[in-house]
Amino acid sequence: MNNRRTNASARSTAVARKSGRRAAARPARRRPSESVAARKARAARILAGLRAHYPDARCALTHRSALELLAATILSAQCTDQRVNLVTPALFARYRGAADFAAADPAELQELIRSTGFFRNKARSLIGMGRVLCDEFGGKVPQTMPALLRLPGVARKTANCVLGTWFEKNEGVVVDTHVGRIALRLSLAPSARNDKDAVRIENDLMSLFPRESWTFLSHAMIDHGRSICTARKPACDRCPLRAECPSADSLTQDDS
Ligand code: SF4
Repeated sequence: MNNRRTNASARSTAVARKSGRRAAARPARRRPSESVAARKARAARILAGLRAHYPDARCALTHRSALELLAATILSAQCTDQRVNLVTPALFARYRGAADFAAADPAELQELIRSTGFFRNKARSLIGMGRVLCDEFGGKVPQTMPALLRLPGVARKTANCVLGTWFEKNEGVVVDTHVGRIALRLSLAPSARNDKDAVRIENDLMSLFPRESWTFLSHAMIDHGRSICTARKPACDRCPLRAECPSADSLTQDDS
């Protein structure tokens, strides 16, 4: 690496540290000669590794219905599932159906979900969700992607989670922060510009993995991101995907 590039990289890292934000992860070292067929074969081995290591991978958000899962997933934006699970028992005791969310007092709802962050926006989304569910879907959570995307606060990530987890419909891959990061480290998203490029990452993953695996893949990658391939310090030495990973042992904190 020449001096100019080294200095630029150091400057951008310093700026990111100073501002407290995390820079978007760079794509993993490319495998320039890897054909689509070779990448698909590698993806199949990665899927087998995930199935062996995370046989029970499932959504970590506590829920008893599609509505509870939908609300919990909306709350999980920029928040840990653990934190959401602390908040939802009281929330679901107070708001039992779509009509309850639709009629919620914003201040009261905000107070209940305050600790999940971005609570004003999330309260707006939950109330809007309740209203659209009542106005357009008879108070029930719809089971199609276009219908779910009509709900405030719901994008493909949330819709994929609800469709795959509750309705067992593999409509797409849930690309959260863990899935985005790991897809790039494993060089499974060649079209993505960085790990925040959710649309391209999801499309790349859908083209590499069989449809029936998409929901499992999402939950297993999230488990992997929490337990082994963490953002700051991936444990490559005990990673079951190590043999298939072009980033193995090459990541430092600044690369994450
Ligand atoms: S080898 Fe390291 S970087 Fe690659 S998936 Fe495993 S933990 Fe992540």
